[in-house]
Amino acid sequence: MRPLPLITLLILVGLTGCHSDPQPEPTQYSVPAEVEPFVKSFREEALKRNKAVSTANLIVTFGTAVSEDVCGQCQIESGRTPRITLNNDSFCWQQANQYERECLVFHELGHCLLSRAHKTDKFPNGAFVSIMNLSDVTVYATCRYPIGNDECDKRARRDYYIDELFDASTPAPAWSK
Ligand SMILES: [Zn+2]
Repeated sequence: MRPLPLITLLILVGLTGCHSDPQPEPTQYSVPAEVEPFVKSFREEALKRNKAVSTANLIVTFGTAVSEDVCGQCQIESGRTPRITLNNDSFCWQQANQYERECLVFHELGHCLLSRAHKTDKFPNGAFVSIMNLSDVTVYATCRYPIGNDECDKRARRDYYIDELFDASTPAPAWSK
């Protein structure tokens, strides 16, 4: 009998092999109630900037982050729902104010839903260019909006960082000089 041509054998192995990918996970959404307002705010901020970002496929849990981000972690794998783990210890969450919590959640959503990588650049005044800066003790200081004493200045600072999150080419703001 004539042997099967090699190409046929390869196709047969491909069809019957046990190395096929697992079934992709279904779309699922699971976010703790304490985190939900920040995910909602993320969607709203995206819409304000004409960047519709779906959060429909997302899992957020409290736990111990094991990546270089001390307070959080984003895991993305092909065919799997993006997973964010937030450290809810006192530094990262319990004693953090609403701005800091927002910054942490937005940073991880930046990784998981916007495919943003870390960006450690600083402005001439020493402020981080992006909330996608790496985690250390001072990391969430970016989100304490320390420039200026009035609410208007704080809002302008927050606006810049969220602009930059959704568009990395956002020009430097006046307060960064
Ligand atoms: Zn990060």
